[in-house]
Amino acid sequence: MTSKTSREEEKNISLPSEEYSLIDTAEIIITGNEIISGKTQDTNSRFLARELRKIGITVHYISTVSDDPQDLYEAAKLAYSRSDLIISSGGLGPTEDDVTMEVMCRAAGLNLQLDADCLATIEAYFARTKRKCAPNNRKQAYMPQGARILKNHFGTAPGAFVHFDYLGKPRHLALLPGPPGELVPMFTDSLKPVLKELSPHRYRTHSFRVYGLGESNIEMLLLDLIKENKGINLATYASSYEVEVLVSEVISDRQDNGALFQNYVETIRRRLKHFIFTEKEETLAQRVLDLLIQREYTIAFAESCTAGLLSSLIGSVPGASKAFFGSVISYNNDIKEKFLKVDSGILEHFGAVSRETALAMADGARESFQTDFSVSITGIAGPSGASPEKPVGTVWIGLVSPTVREAFRFQFSGERKRIQERAAFRALDLIRRALENWPLAEKEE
Ligand code: AMP
Ligand code: MG
Repeated sequence: MTSKTSREEEKNISLPSEEYSLIDTAEIIITGNEIISGKTQDTNSRFLARELRKIGITVHYISTVSDDPQDLYEAAKLAYSRSDLIISSGGLGPTEDDVTMEVMCRAAGLNLQLDADCLATIEAYFARTKRKCAPNNRKQAYMPQGARILKNHFGTAPGAFVHFDYLGKPRHLALLPGPPGELVPMFTDSLKPVLKELSPHRYRTHSFRVYGLGESNIEMLLLDLIKENKGINLATYASSYEVEVLVSEVISDRQDNGALFQNYVETIRRRLKHFIFTEKEETLAQRVLDLLIQREYTIAFAESCTAGLLSSLIGSVPGASKAFFGSVISYNNDIKEKFLKVDSGILEHFGAVSRETALAMADGARESFQTDFSVSITGIAGPSGASPEKPVGTVWIGLVSPTVREAFRFQFSGERKRIQERAAFRALDLIRRALENWPLAEKEE
């Protein structure tokens, strides 16, 4: 693939020789009716704000604007009046409602012109994917004068980074596509290296990813550090099943060797203990797979109420087959007996949602797949099937390894899908804890 080499090249981008003003303040404009209407959840602003913080640029405003050109025009003018860097997301597509490039540039007083390279790239993209390049796709090749083109390796719409003066003030404008699968690599590979050069600060950052503690609990545990004002900033970012704790510090003094920063990092590590599942850019599933591979262990699952979700989480990590052998999805009790050799007496006596069944399911999976580890999940995802002793959200997770044979009862809240997800993530975390020799469970959740 040619894209690999050109992506590598872009990583080495440096600024043109002209002097560009540094960026002090930044803001983000998210565009699109699908975001305004609540149909799509905006994840781009979160990503951008967090990435910018890591390179010492603080975002002061994030606004979300409809596809109406007038709304966008006004939002753009306001942003240009107050921020050094403006990043827009979305609306670079070929359709009628994709107006961001045209409107943002008009508000900036920038002309658009047909970029021959962009046009060639777009036409080549269509030729490669054996589709016809419609006239409106050519619209995407119109770029602001003097812009640096940000190539899109995952879609047709190129992005742009351009500098202009607004009412006598130097401004930087970056126009990025909406789909996160396009925006994230474009930002990371093409824009971030340039912005880093324009950032007035050098930053030091460290990130912890935490599972099993909520944001408020984390804040309680780190309250003194958060309040202490020694120039080290602690920010927490919660997403569905994890919280990221980002520690950052502006390096103002060249003599500063980061000793205080290191001290903070170590204190946080000590306090959040085994709730930290990684200090790298990776998901919980990646971490679990990585640990299994490192330790040369294999694993199999027996999933009842999660219907394969745990398998899917592990299976979506590249290289999963090195450790993950397979699963039995055993919704039905006969299947538990037939494929997992769960004793019918256990099912009758203790019920399908019980410690005994969870253990027997895990034993069965380990035996059938001949793996080192096995994990079972059996529970009541609801809304039906509950009883006073086993309300909706009751889930047993069993874990069998060369050294452990245990099952844990959890009480998850939320609707069906949420209970299934919580159970699958909790199972992943159990495996991680077992592999790292941490205590396997605390209180019920
Ligand atoms: P657009 O380029 O604005 O037409 O966006 C194309 C698609 O990208 C949308 O339909 C969304 O699925 C997705 N998208 C756009 N903006 C965002 C955003 N801020 N966060 C997450 N997804 C987005
Ligand atoms: Mg759109």
